[in-house]
Amino acid sequence: MFPLIDTHAHLDMAPFAKDRSEVIAIARDSGVSIIITVGIDLESSRAAIKLAEDHHEVLATVGFHPHEANRMRETDLTSLAELAHKPRVVAIGEIGLDYYRSKVPPATQLQALQWQLALADRLDLPVIIHCRQAEKDMLPLLHDWSDAHNGRSERPLGIIHCFSGNIEVARQYLAMGFFISVGAYIGYPSSKPLRSVIREIPQNRLLVETDCPFLPPQKHRGQRNEPAYLPLTVTALADIREVSSEIIAQETTRNARNLFRLPDSA
Ligand SMILES: [Zn+2]
Repeated sequence: MFPLIDTHAHLDMAPFAKDRSEVIAIARDSGVSIIITVGIDLESSRAAIKLAEDHHEVLATVGFHPHEANRMRETDLTSLAELAHKPRVVAIGEIGLDYYRSKVPPATQLQALQWQLALADRLDLPVIIHCRQAEKDMLPLLHDWSDAHNGRSERPLGIIHCFSGNIEVARQYLAMGFFISVGAYIGYPSSKPLRSVIREIPQNRLLVETDCPFLPPQKHRGQRNEPAYLPLTVTALADIREVSSEIIAQETTRNARNLFRLPDSA
């Protein structure tokens, strides 16, 4: 299969502590040529950069996840900006709103998100957005931000990661200019309504991710997810969209290269 790009992994997390390099090597042998490992706070952003410096298959992003928003101070933006200037950093993320699982008050999450959206603009980097049961605040906020952005930059806006919304929500993100990323959860029995939404997403806006160690494919549920399982999501997408896996692989990789502005050789 055409080499894949895992656009969202958490390789710095504890479940990979013992065999990180092996996990990356197995992923490469399974056809995953690039893994974007995503920061959730300053410490994990630094760890992500270190992984990217040590492994040529890995690139990093930096940011505060909504679950960590209560620990973010405005002064952390200076540290984030410094980290983001490192050569292997390709985006600000993951950032966003989570009203489902997070214990952080919405106002605190919104503040951290707004700070980091402004930072992405300043640094001219795309964003990776996490949104869970928070569309009512996320959509108007991103509408305003994307309007301002699209008027002054050619840079792709970013990714809606782990997308599980309905078709109206998908259309709004697409109209703003976002890419939509999906993982192995599209194959879960409970994801049937989502599959008809995914069929409607234009081919040039679709990305694949694992979100590992979370959300493993159905046949590995209860286990650790890892980048080597990404081809299973490509196959699931091919079934849903009734095209070949090869086409899904080619198009999602091309989209990821466009979004992160990766040279063909990277
Ligand atoms: Zn994540």
